[in-house]
Amino acid sequence: MSKETVLIVEDEKSILELLAYTFEKEGFRVYASGEGGDGLEKAGRLQPSLILLDLMLPGMDGLEILKALRANQTTASIPVIMLTARSEEIDKIVGLELGADDYVTKPFSPRELMARVKAVLRRGRPAHSQPVLRAGAIELQTEKHLVLLKGKPVELTSKEFGLLKVLMESDGRVLSREVLLEKVWGFDRSMHIETRTVDMHVGQLRKKLQMESERILTVKNAGYRFENEK
Ligand code: CA
Repeated sequence: MSKETVLIVEDEKSILELLAYTFEKEGFRVYASGEGGDGLEKAGRLQPSLILLDLMLPGMDGLEILKALRANQTTASIPVIMLTARSEEIDKIVGLELGADDYVTKPFSPRELMARVKAVLRRGRPAHSQPVLRAGAIELQTEKHLVLLKGKPVELTSKEFGLLKVLMESDGRVLSREVLLEKVWGFDRSMHIETRTVDMHVGQLRKKLQMESERILTVKNAGYRFENEK
């Protein structure tokens, strides 16, 4: 069996060394880069099994790299785990919308990181991560972060976009407000966001979807459901 490979893009030398050591001990072949543009180039050339991507980097930052990776066919399916600091919560969520497979906040424990890595490698890239989702007059282009209504762009905030994407990907299942908070806001116990925030954003989203607003159904005492076919 060939060795799993990992590309670590991280500019802090001590963290890079700790990561390289951790992965080598687990039997990975490790490639490293301390700069954004170089990291992107190596990803395309070396085709690693997994990329560990720091958010704040000299040159291109982590989100720009992620976007470029997902836009390029040769790297679009490589799993990416983002490394973020606590204060970068917002970027973390945007990162997941752009197609990161998971994130790890610094400081991290090597054991927790490895558990995440194994989970990501096991499940691969999600099958539902389609480039374009459609329902009636709505077209959502995941990589371009774009929503069209009857072919015309709709201006959505990042949260409204995330919400619509999660709803459209749910195959008609009911999603509770808690699940939506977790998927779209990246809710954890350190963030005090209330479930009615979801209702507020759904309201805004419905307004912007105009004649297609009724596709987002409120399910009493349960949450929301998106009707793909009607
Ligand atoms: Ca950094």
